[in-house]
Amino acid sequence: MRRATALTLLLLAVVALVHGFSSSPASSSPATSLPAVAPPEIGAAPEPPGAGADMSVVWSAAVASDPSPGLAISGQTTTQKGRIALTFDDGPDPVVTPQVLDTLLAYDVEATFFVVGRYVAQHPEIVQRIVAEGHTLGNHTYTHPDMSFMNAAQMNRELRRTQRAVDRALGYEHQMFVMRPPFGHPYYGGADNLPVFERVMRRQQLFPVLWTPSPHDYLYDGQPGRIIQDVKRERAPGRDYDGVLLLHDTKQQSADALPGIIEHYLSEGLEFTGVHELLADKYLGG
Ligand SMILES: [Zn+2]
Repeated sequence: MRRATALTLLLLAVVALVHGFSSSPASSSPATSLPAVAPPEIGAAPEPPGAGADMSVVWSAAVASDPSPGLAISGQTTTQKGRIALTFDDGPDPVVTPQVLDTLLAYDVEATFFVVGRYVAQHPEIVQRIVAEGHTLGNHTYTHPDMSFMNAAQMNRELRRTQRAVDRALGYEHQMFVMRPPFGHPYYGGADNLPVFERVMRRQQLFPVLWTPSPHDYLYDGQPGRIIQDVKRERAPGRDYDGVLLLHDTKQQSADALPGIIEHYLSEGLEFTGVHELLADKYLGG
């Protein structure tokens, strides 16, 4: 399906109705085994957020060259343009996530939210807002388990339940292309289970996304200033590598620190980007 804004989709739908769908297909791309993007329904699926590149194309390129595609798996990205991708884990939270979204909106910065399926089911309206404001959703499992203790069937269940919860919350299919395993396992612990995990990722066409050095925001209850200090320490000025910052949109101090974090990066001249763009650069070149 050709990329189009929601408005264009609406117009196309009207034109298609008038012309009885007689116009030529919008896409010349060959059929692949990827799950199809949901067909446009009037007033339904807007363009997937944060997807500057067609993620199915990025995925195809990635698996052709990398047996285990992913981002920042070893604590660093492989691209170096002085950009930073903000990521938030463990939400949506009814209090903190809206505050984070308010800040992102005020600064016109995009982010990725690695959501927990069971909270998606509880707060669908926040998930709708995340997408409506142009951010990216990532799969952070349904119950936030340590996946280094799971077999493939259990992993599949966790991921698919979360995908279904997102689809239900939004009212249309919204394929997530990125995921983050809770606690960073089995990369940072339980590595014996890594082959199983990697097979599941490949089958589900999900890029695991970890992070570059990040503040331990969850440790600093009531101390947003410490988070900002850590962010300043982690990243020396003038270094032009790309970073993936891990924060938690379940922690009040993280939401309180966010304006200071963004101001810091702006003062360093960094450009904000999304994990999709970093993946596209990594696997398509850029
Ligand atoms: Zn988590």
